[in-house]
Amino acid sequence: MQITLLGVGSSAGTPVIGCACPTCRSNNPKNKRTRCSMTVTMDDGTVLLVDTGPDLRLQALRENMNRVDAVLYTHYHADHLNGLDDLRSFCQRQRKPIPVYANEHTIQGIMQRFSYAFPVREQHHWDKPVLSGHVASGKMEIAGVEVQAVPVLHGPYEILSYRIGKMAYLTDVSDIPATSMGALQGLEVLFLDCLRDRFHPSHFNLEQALHWAGRIGARQTWLIHMTHDLEYEELSRRLPPGIQVAYDGLRLTLPEIKTPI
Ligand SMILES: [Zn+2]
Ligand SMILES: [Zn+2]
Ligand SMILES: [Zn+2]
Repeated sequence: MQITLLGVGSSAGTPVIGCACPTCRSNNPKNKRTRCSMTVTMDDGTVLLVDTGPDLRLQALRENMNRVDAVLYTHYHADHLNGLDDLRSFCQRQRKPIPVYANEHTIQGIMQRFSYAFPVREQHHWDKPVLSGHVASGKMEIAGVEVQAVPVLHGPYEILSYRIGKMAYLTDVSDIPATSMGALQGLEVLFLDCLRDRFHPSHFNLEQALHWAGRIGARQTWLIHMTHDLEYEELSRRLPPGIQVAYDGLRLTLPEIKTPI
């Protein structure tokens, strides 16, 4: 399976509008971060998309995306949700509704905010995104792919991270319950929230991300959801072996496995 990071930025993206800090003025493409999202493409071509941030259209064009079989939502904050309308292009190409998954609280919130995308009757017009909402929990088969929903805390809220094969994607996380640690064992690749150096109540800062990366013990950990406080080269120099700074467009290939745990 192939993993593509569509974006690794925090809610404002980098550069931040109006900011002239060294990261925002940097010419290094690895300091240009769109809002967090990723795809997993299976060997048979099935594509799972995690979140639909406000940059989805540009990310899809940049990565030549032409298919989305299902969307896994972590939570409904605007930086993970508000590109939902651009799912319309995939509905138009595929001529069928796209199933979207999230925990119960998130799926209700999404269906409330974007009620026009969840038609009650069968739709044959594709002028809007046409989606079906599903509650994700535990191990599921989604579009023929084994996916495990792993609850984590984002400040006071329980949101979802996802494990597919030996990859797990944990964005917007401030704590990992002991009951979720079992699902994070034996990972090859871990994507992990690392907002900035300073403490934040709803995200891991660098110190916390390094602590949890050590506890989870994936072979490779990649830091995501970074603000402009973290400059690519400077941060890279501060990381221990096995932990790296992710960037938009990063692609990794992992063997597909049928039973993830
Ligand atoms: Zn976020
Ligand atoms: Zn800046
Ligand atoms: Zn959030």
